Amino acid sequence: MAEPPLRPGSAIGILGGGQLGRMLTLSAAQLGLDARIYCEKPDAPSFRVATSHVCAPFTDEAALIRFARSCDVVTFEFENVPVEALEIITRYTPVFPSPSALRVIQDRGEEKAFLSSLGIPIADFCTVDSEAGLQDAIARIGRPSMLKTRRFGYDGKGQVRINGDTNAAKAWRDIAAAPAVLEAFVPFEREVSVVAARGQDGESIFYDLTENRHENQILAESRVPARVAEGLETEGHAIVRKVLDALDYVGVLAVEMFVCNDGGPRLLANEIAPRVHNSGHWTLDGCGASQFEAHVRAVAGWPLPSSARHSDAVMTNLIGADAERWHDLAADPANRVHLYGKSEARPGRKMGHVTRILPLGTLS
Ligand code: AMP
Repeated sequence: MAEPPLRPGSAIGILGGGQLGRMLTLSAAQLGLDARIYCEKPDAPSFRVATSHVCAPFTDEAALIRFARSCDVVTFEFENVPVEALEIITRYTPVFPSPSALRVIQDRGEEKAFLSSLGIPIADFCTVDSEAGLQDAIARIGRPSMLKTRRFGYDGKGQVRINGDTNAAKAWRDIAAAPAVLEAFVPFEREVSVVAARGQDGESIFYDLTENRHENQILAESRVPARVAEGLETEGHAIVRKVLDALDYVGVLAVEMFVCNDGGPRLLANEIAPRVHNSGHWTLDGCGASQFEAHVRAVAGWPLPSSARHSDAVMTNLIGADAERWHDLAADPANRVHLYGKSEARPGRKMGHVTRILPLGTLS
């Protein structure tokens, strides 16, 4: 149900205090809105930019209620926030996106069944609940294939590739015998994503299709425009529109997809991220209004901004020690440097990103 638009000076609560929360906070500030952060981890990157923060577990009902009462609306910046915590908060304050939308997306099995029910093409899959079930699933889906835990996976965590010689019992142990899905391996040509926002009035905006390159299953680089056949962007937007409308979604969402070329280019949906997304970071510098601004506006009940792109862009993640190059990166005027204020540069940790901005039409 649509809420009256939040007036400037109102407070948006954000569950999770990572870099996504930090960039949401900066966009909220631009619109005259305060951001309050609720995060389980101390020293979260958002704490230093937010109006206030709470560091408490998501199981602390009293802390959740106090937090809900201090906010005019609550949203989240990571998909593993417990739905139960959102349900407690909704008793006091509106929550966008809704707990029911999050529930579908949190579980890879439900997410895939949902995508299929909308007629959206996905890789062949089956659910796996035991080692014997995995043997049966491999017999059905074949090798190579991807075994993925149903819950709590991100950046390739909770995933094992089943190759010709992979021992099923070991693969099952490697994912800690957690409920999983086995998915056919997709011989994709490219990976792409669509970041989109839907407002409380049901209107949606779609950012340009983004081409993504992963290294070690972590996003390394995004570029726009994507190098894909004509028509695929429209197809990608249509897929995301179906998802947004079916979930009655409010806020920003991303859908990661594979571009396959088996008898003509087509898209297969891989996964939905119910939040602002790393592959949309280029929108901070390549568009008049970023995905972060779009999300803040959607949850605050404001009109959505234009998603028009004014530049070509290549976004590179700064992972681990990459961020030590900040000085050289900043010396190049074509670069827009973003650092997340994380104190410790562990390997694989996203420390920042840099977006190279080029005149529209330079990349093709
Ligand atoms: P995910 O956590 O599902 O986004 O997977 C992380 C990355 O692993 C993807 O971006 C792909 O590069 C790769 N991957 C995941 N699933 C498959 C698949 N079924 N076939 C081929 N590559 C995959």
